[in-house]
Amino acid sequence: MSKHFDAIVIGGGISGLTAAWQLRKNGTARVAVLEATNHCGGCVSGQSIAGLTADAGAESYATRSAVIPELLTELGIADKRIEPNPAGAWLVLPEGAQPMPRTGILGIPGDLEAEETIQALSAEGLQRAREDLEKPIDHWRERLAQPGGPQASVAELVVDRMGQEVLDLLVTPVVSGVHAADPQTLDLETVAPGLLERVVAEGSLCAAVYAQRLAAGQTVSGKPGSAVGGLAGGMNTLTTALLAKLAEQDVVVHTDVAVTALELGQPHRLSTTGGQLTAERVVVATDGPTAVDLLAATDAEFEKYRPEPGTGVALVSLVVDHPELAAAPRGTGVLVSPLVKDIDAKALTHASAKWAWIRDALAAQNPDRHLLRLSYGRISDEPGRLGYGSEDEKLIAAALNDAAAITGIELQPADIVDSGVVRWLGALPFATIGHRERVSAFRKKLAELPRVDAVGAWLAGTGLVAVVADVQKTLS
Ligand SMILES: Cc1cc2nc3c(=O)[nH]c(=O)nc-3n(C[C@H](O)[C@H](O)[C@H](O)COP(=O)(O)OP(=O)(O)OC[C@H]3O[C@@H](n4cnc5c(N)ncnc54)[C@H](O)[C@@H]3O)c2cc1C
Repeated sequence: MSKHFDAIVIGGGISGLTAAWQLRKNGTARVAVLEATNHCGGCVSGQSIAGLTADAGAESYATRSAVIPELLTELGIADKRIEPNPAGAWLVLPEGAQPMPRTGILGIPGDLEAEETIQALSAEGLQRAREDLEKPIDHWRERLAQPGGPQASVAELVVDRMGQEVLDLLVTPVVSGVHAADPQTLDLETVAPGLLERVVAEGSLCAAVYAQRLAAGQTVSGKPGSAVGGLAGGMNTLTTALLAKLAEQDVVVHTDVAVTALELGQPHRLSTTGGQLTAERVVVATDGPTAVDLLAATDAEFEKYRPEPGTGVALVSLVVDHPELAAAPRGTGVLVSPLVKDIDAKALTHASAKWAWIRDALAAQNPDRHLLRLSYGRISDEPGRLGYGSEDEKLIAAALNDAAAITGIELQPADIVDSGVVRWLGALPFATIGHRERVSAFRKKLAELPRVDAVGAWLAGTGLVAVVADVQKTLS
């Protein structure tokens, strides 16, 4: 392999691949991507199940921004964009399953009069939530103005404005199910940028959620879970398309090559499992702990930006044959409240109900065939609960029982046609309070180093929109 490049990108996840594409667009000639595992894509990868390649990680992107549609156009795959079935998502609460309230942000209701919100909360809980519409907002105005930012958690804002029940029943299932985070320590500014400014401007959290949804081009009546888009063939085809574009642009992509050390200089020197390489410019596009490991060797001060390790998550995919699943009894999927003790899964996606391409591919095999995806591993889980470290057999058996409990359909082991388990460790970095300020201090420190950049979800926030937008901003 060639030993010297104008730019080397460390990490072949979506941040690394888009970084390489951005560098080429900016005119950087010789670009290489080094990926430690045997495939690129990171969290945007495929898994083989029942003869199809389904998403092993990310399966959609938020449609609140034009960032992903524009990237798809550049890659020539805009025609593959699809929308999910608008059936919406459900919640499993201790009282039973119900459609998820038409909420906008992190499960926080933008309409306290919506039927589903009223159904989810007790009379006292609803009354407490409605205090949000009257309570003075001055305290939050002061917090917003304080130097160093408001330093608030999601839970703090929700409990203050709407009470504990809204947090427990509506917000925690979303935050732990989607963000693998604990709302008590999840940084508000990172996961809901601009929300607090709106709370202060609108005078209530509910009105702020409503206004933020409208500003993002959504309506409060839109079903939860429907403000996303996908790709026919799965989001993993975004990785395939990026790799094709990079190949067309003569970008060198090496898999099974991990960078083990970085020595800054002119040029920078990289030690890798495939030998020594040099580059004029380096973009670190790995997970946070690896980025800190590499940078701290050049300056120990980077150690103080080491992120909290994200929680481990196990995703169990079940392909099952059962005629009653055709009715999609829980819409496109379910988030399970941690207060529900007899279901270990934190979420279930009825993938074949959500995405037409999966439905059609499986129906071609058998008209009753469905794909269910269940996730395990909450940050708040007590030891012994099923999760990242559990054996495949236990996870698959639990997934079948949980799927039956969630859907209300008697699924039997004989109904399983195929199954698979994918594990993600720390792949959903957890933004704790003050994250935004730490990231900006890290970036200031990094700017002192010549020709070194860092991108990725640990800095940008979880999600394809955040990650791709940040790459474009950092490298443009
Ligand atoms: C299960 C799951 C479901 C998700 N669902 C969605 C979704 O539906 N919608 C959405 O928008 N987002 C979703 N996300 C989040 C989104 O996928 C991520 O935020 C995003 O893909 C992160 O990209 P990244 O490049 O920052 O990190 P990663 O994908 O983690 O990529 C980092 C890469 O760096 C490589 N690497 C690490 N160390 C080295 C080294 N020393 N040398 C070389 N390479 C190295 C890794 O192997 C990896 O490939 C999901 C994430 C997970 C885990």
